[in-house]
Amino acid sequence: MKQSLWINGENVEADKYRPLLNPFNGQNIAEVAEASKEDVIRAVDSAAEAARKMAEMDAHKRSDILRRVAELIQEDREECARLIAEESSKPLKAARGEVDRTIMTYTFASEEARRLHGETIPMDAAPGGEGRVAYTVREPLGVIAAITPFNFPMNLVAHKVGPAIAAGNTVVLKPASQTPLSAYKIASYFHQAGLPAGALNVVTGSGKNVGDVLIDDERVRMVTFTGSPEVGKQIREHAGLKRVTLELGSNSALIVDEGTDLKKVMPRVVTGAFSNQGQVCISIQRIFVHEKISDEFVSLFIEEAGKLKVGDPLDEQTDLAAMISGNDVTRAKAWIQDAVENGAELVYGGESERQILKPTVLLNAQLTDKISCEEVFAPVVHINTFKEFDDAIDQVNDSKFGLQAGVYTNDLQKAMKAAKNLHVGGVMINEIPTFRVDHMPYGGVKMSGTGREGIKYALEEMTELKLVSIKLD
Ligand code: NAP
Repeated sequence: MKQSLWINGENVEADKYRPLLNPFNGQNIAEVAEASKEDVIRAVDSAAEAARKMAEMDAHKRSDILRRVAELIQEDREECARLIAEESSKPLKAARGEVDRTIMTYTFASEEARRLHGETIPMDAAPGGEGRVAYTVREPLGVIAAITPFNFPMNLVAHKVGPAIAAGNTVVLKPASQTPLSAYKIASYFHQAGLPAGALNVVTGSGKNVGDVLIDDERVRMVTFTGSPEVGKQIREHAGLKRVTLELGSNSALIVDEGTDLKKVMPRVVTGAFSNQGQVCISIQRIFVHEKISDEFVSLFIEEAGKLKVGDPLDEQTDLAAMISGNDVTRAKAWIQDAVENGAELVYGGESERQILKPTVLLNAQLTDKISCEEVFAPVVHINTFKEFDDAIDQVNDSKFGLQAGVYTNDLQKAMKAAKNLHVGGVMINEIPTFRVDHMPYGGVKMSGTGREGIKYALEEMTELKLVSIKLD
């Protein structure tokens, strides 16, 4: 299969193509276009040209296009899931879950397109403001550059393209190099659904090459980025006055208080740690368990992890498959080794086979070990103990990241204290930090990013608030 660029509503050949390999078996899946600087500029040209048409499109038409996209994905659910599984090595079960969430995300975007509105402002509340009628409207920004990561190749594209189109913007999308096919597939659905040519363009190629052209182009009004903190920081530094939304990484933590029904919560905790090989921005990486229940927690956790089936992502039974690259396996193993040298106890896993790293559990890692303080983005957790609940909160907050945190406790006072004092974008009480539904506000503090996604909130980021004041005689 040859995958060309998608610009101005048509396939555009590139000068260069690059083989796309399946991370699990190394097989060649496709030859994917590498956009040149001129190709990226052409994509921005077409997005800029389509901007007026999109801004003038009625809300019900934008809503209908988005709803139709959701329907088309539903019709091709299985094909979409297989595509995700092949290019990202996400186990089929989880890939189907991602497709279902993508459908939900576009459905929310379709609904929000009809709800986008401003408010009236009581100008006479200020002396001198009398005799005026004033209201706000939310206007589209114009061209938005969307840069997305590999780990949710369809749903994280939806979290950018969905609200951007709902608000009447146009988009140049740069998906991750390892997962371009899901993004091109989505562009074909928008085309079938009647989106005007140029309103959604997809360009693939090296992140830096394509990203730099998009960020330098003055016609691009906003960069919405999901990916690693290092790249997010670079984008922020170069974006000048452009609006920037950054959805970055984390080392998410879970607090488990005494009194928690461990047998009940354990399947969910293990899923939160190892789902998609731990390559989830809100994957559980650090677990803090009350010392009175820690022995039981560790043995139940290992027992549950032992039930995970490791193997081919296209096998119906597989829970955990290959990581995205061999380098990531090597990096995670080096961090495990460092933690062990610093005194952590490796009680489960640690070994790898080709690009599969087995689910790995460490006890009592130092919070300064990379395995704890950096984003591991691999199927690796560490379990530490606490005596006082306040200390657990401090340990969770002792991080440069702050995306989401989870707390299991039956004590309302402690739950409320955690809700107030945890320095993160979202606190999940009696739930893992990995919990997300697609309409809730989602985003981080500290190095986990700036801005919020979740369709309604992304629409706010992707529109300009304009005030209209009418002076009456
Ligand atoms: P990544 O390496 O930062 O890549 C993300 C995207 O940025 C890719 O499309 C990449 O293109 C592109 N890119 C790379 N260098 C660039 C540059 N200099 N300028 C502009 N774009 C550039 O991240 P990843 O490995 O794909 O994804 C994992 C990271 O994403 C983790 O840190 C994870 O926590 C984070 N994440 C966050 C959220 C959230 O909502 N907070 C959700 C999911 C993932 P190439 O692929 O071509 O390099």
